[in-house]
Amino acid sequence: MDYIQLPSHDEVVSDKNKFIDMFDLFYHNNDPISAKGLCQKVDSRYLIQNPPALYLNTQELDEVSALSYERDLHPYHQKEGKVKALETIKFSISTHQGCYGECSFCAISVHQGRTIRSRSEDSILKEAKLFTTYKDFKGIISDIGGPTANMYGYECTKKINKGTCEEKSCMFPTMCKSLKPTHQKQISLLRKVRDIPGIKKAFIASGVRYDLISDDKAYGYDYLKEIVNHHISGQMKIAPEHIDDEILGLMGKPGKQSLVDFKILFDRLNKESGKKQFLTYYLIAAHPGCEEKHMQNLKDFATNVLKMSPEQAQVFTPTPSTYSTLMYYTGLDPKTRKPLFVERDTLKKERQKEIVVAKKEPRFRSGFDS
Ligand code: SF4
Repeated sequence: MDYIQLPSHDEVVSDKNKFIDMFDLFYHNNDPISAKGLCQKVDSRYLIQNPPALYLNTQELDEVSALSYERDLHPYHQKEGKVKALETIKFSISTHQGCYGECSFCAISVHQGRTIRSRSEDSILKEAKLFTTYKDFKGIISDIGGPTANMYGYECTKKINKGTCEEKSCMFPTMCKSLKPTHQKQISLLRKVRDIPGIKKAFIASGVRYDLISDDKAYGYDYLKEIVNHHISGQMKIAPEHIDDEILGLMGKPGKQSLVDFKILFDRLNKESGKKQFLTYYLIAAHPGCEEKHMQNLKDFATNVLKMSPEQAQVFTPTPSTYSTLMYYTGLDPKTRKPLFVERDTLKKERQKEIVVAKKEPRFRSGFDS
């Protein structure tokens, strides 16, 4: 078996460009079909990372999903009281694994992989039916989804047979022509879940990639209509994270026009169905590269284009195995290797957040200094 030798531990500790070389090699050797093993000299010995095991196929995923899970707290811990988080996951269904979104701040493409592995419709419906046999099931499925809800049921043929492309992303900067998103299977699945006696509501709480919806000319519109009419209640959370092109580029996220198009479609569908539902947005402050001026752009866009005032934004938290964390640590743009502004001061990070969530003009906008 082929092994690639990474720059040595000593080299990557002392040279940030070598660190980026190492990360690139690590990142591009995560696919079970195409990955090579990695090795790295550490002091006088070698650290070896073998290539990942093959993914579970649909049949194997179905078998794992059909095991007799208790869906409850371990009896040993019952006396310590309720676990709130269990309410969110107890009656939720994971339809697939993997994500090819490759947002720079997210580690899922590394730890779950970029290839979608979907369960069969039959297996998912069986699980939904099983819920109705539980005494404490109130007819509500809290989520039918995965890392990204609308990646269920289709995948690029090249990726399945030969592994992921090394020098190309499936969705960034534009959708790869080989992907061909289709929401057909998801629509069929959701309708069948709704038809199960005892199911009153099945939410889609997992994130939805709106650019996949707009790229699916045949079923994207119908899919969103299904969601608006049946699978949300009052609000739908989406994750543009930012709107400034420079920051979106660093985040690996689609441009703001796809957000605008999606909002227009969402509002139109709500109007047609007589519902008063709205979008809420996940936003990130202080991502590497982001300065206060970028947050001000975001605030202006939210006010003038989205016509809303964000109530929440998350301060960027470096997560292991991501390009954003690589930027945070090295202070370099990994693609160009040029220096990148990184906000490291905790108070100034909070200030970036405050610009977006402030109800009035933030007091520090003109010359305030902490
Ligand atoms: S061909 Fe396109 S969709 Fe398929 S793995 Fe490569 S980049 Fe992704």
